[in-house]
Amino acid sequence: MSQPKERRTRIPDHRHCIICGRPVPPKEELCSDECRNVYEGRLKRERRTRLLLLILYIALLGSLFFFFFLPR
Ligand SMILES: [Zn+2]
Repeated sequence: MSQPKERRTRIPDHRHCIICGRPVPPKEELCSDECRNVYEGRLKRERRTRLLLLILYIALLGSLFFFFFLPR
């Protein structure tokens, strides 16, 4: 009696393309090369933004450090 509960819907397992929302097979996240390009472009931009934030953060910490510990 260890059968899983009946599925709520009859739709087979699938996901939706994270770019355009079209249904894709469970192992896929994107429906086409076009969406892959969009996705990778977005990832790249996101990574650059995160890097920029990190640099800003380090610069801020660094200047704070100098502000507090530099002899007057
Ligand atoms: Zn798509």
